[in-house]
Amino acid sequence: MAKKKTICIDFDGVLADYSEGYQGKDIFGDMVPNADIATGVLKKNGWTIIIYTTRPATDALKKWLKDNNISYDYINENPDQPEDSKGCKLMADIYLDDRGMSFSSWNAWTMRDIAEFEPNSAASKKKDQEQREFEACYKEGDIWKRGREKRLKNIGGKLQEVGDVIK
Ligand SMILES: [Mg+2]
Repeated sequence: MAKKKTICIDFDGVLADYSEGYQGKDIFGDMVPNADIATGVLKKNGWTIIIYTTRPATDALKKWLKDNNISYDYINENPDQPEDSKGCKLMADIYLDDRGMSFSSWNAWTMRDIAEFEPNSAASKKKDQEQREFEACYKEGDIWKRGREKRLKNIGGKLQEVGDVIK
């Protein structure tokens, strides 16, 4: 039988919506869609699930996890971790985090990814806003009156807005 694997899952931005950022102790966002089903599948497939969060394991947090049917084993602890390796970081096979980057090597792309990094919650909020603006343009009914198109130019290998298409 394959060795049981451990996954550390971040709370804010992965299990609970974090698009509004930190709102205070024991104030949590709505469940990220399908977090209940996904953690249930992991659990069923034999994963040990650790909620790995900056938040303390309060009763309110445990209640939120229970109310939202999140499957997990521990919060901010890995009891299977050897005594001589108990630093701050928990041992796991995978860390699932909205602020994580997967490391392969130190190179120019890694440096660029760090410089341009945006957590998924911020990126999706921005995308939602862009989508709403885009849809609002179409509601006006006349594609040529939308007026939000920007002329794009390749500047140093990146597309940048350089002015309005329609003045
Ligand atoms: Mg997070």
